[in-house]
Amino acid sequence: MTKLLTGKEPAQAIKDEVAERITALGKRVGLATVLVGDDPASEVYVRMKHKAAAKVGMYTYDHKLPADTPQEEVEDLVRSLNADPSVDGILVQLPLPDGLNPDTVIDCIDPGKDADGLHPHSLGLVVLERTGGAIPATPQGIMKMLNFYEVETEGKVAVVIGRSRLVGRPMGLLLNHKSGANSTVIFAHSRTRDLPSITAMADILIVAAGRPGLVEAEGVKPGAVVIDVGINRVDDKLVGDVDFDSISEVASAITPVPGGVGPMTIASLLLNTVALAEARAEAG
Ligand code: NAD
Repeated sequence: MTKLLTGKEPAQAIKDEVAERITALGKRVGLATVLVGDDPASEVYVRMKHKAAAKVGMYTYDHKLPADTPQEEVEDLVRSLNADPSVDGILVQLPLPDGLNPDTVIDCIDPGKDADGLHPHSLGLVVLERTGGAIPATPQGIMKMLNFYEVETEGKVAVVIGRSRLVGRPMGLLLNHKSGANSTVIFAHSRTRDLPSITAMADILIVAAGRPGLVEAEGVKPGAVVIDVGINRVDDKLVGDVDFDSISEVASAITPVPGGVGPMTIASLLLNTVALAEARAEAG
């Protein structure tokens, strides 16, 4: 019987910890979000992040810009948030509208306020397996989920589909860490040949491609743990990247979409923000 790895319980445990740490800090903790354009899915995600932040006692600052905002203006807003002492964490909701370069916008975020952990400095610390920076929220959330459900990672083969800055690449690095998961990691991507033969090697399969139905039961090793990161709207329903029904027959555990990785991403964003606030308070 496949175990359903829901995000609700582990996310709540993280949010309880965040609330306690905010109380212990004894100062206002502020999260600023930057949403450019009017993509309905992004609007929903930002609203969910605000709601979750408010519930743990965080202050939120909502910045919305029209889709045709020039690059320089988006970057100026980020710089002004860097300078704002009431802001501890900055989140730029991705993807940005066509015509805006997300890399240079993210590069403008002060690494000490990088709530999503996507600044080159934060990612560099992940590469070097050093602490002190924010860890990319989605991969961090997945690691915490694996830990919560006591999924053994040491020496296991982990296949990560996707190599984005946001999910795939940092995910593989975290699974590779010597001081942490110690998995043997394979990155699969859009140029990978014969994907099912690669995914079939996985004890732990993380799918972050944004392609509904990309992985079917034939590509899953019996007993594998399958983490579906994808969020796709198909016929007005949210689905992941894997064929949930057929894979449930083969896998030992699988995340649902929605209700799996999504809540862990939000909880990790809050965890990063409180850690950044603590570091700022300590530095005076
Ligand atoms: P992205 O488009 O930046 O990257 C997709 C990756 O998938 C690329 O590296 C590409 O090489 C790979 N890929 C695409 N088609 C493929 C194929 N046919 N075979 C193998 N690999 C293929 O996307 P992203 O930002 O990494 O997000 C991936 C998915 O995860 C999206 O559906 C996104 O909505 C979702 N997401 C979910 C959460 C969450 O909290 N649940 C958070 C972030 C992203």
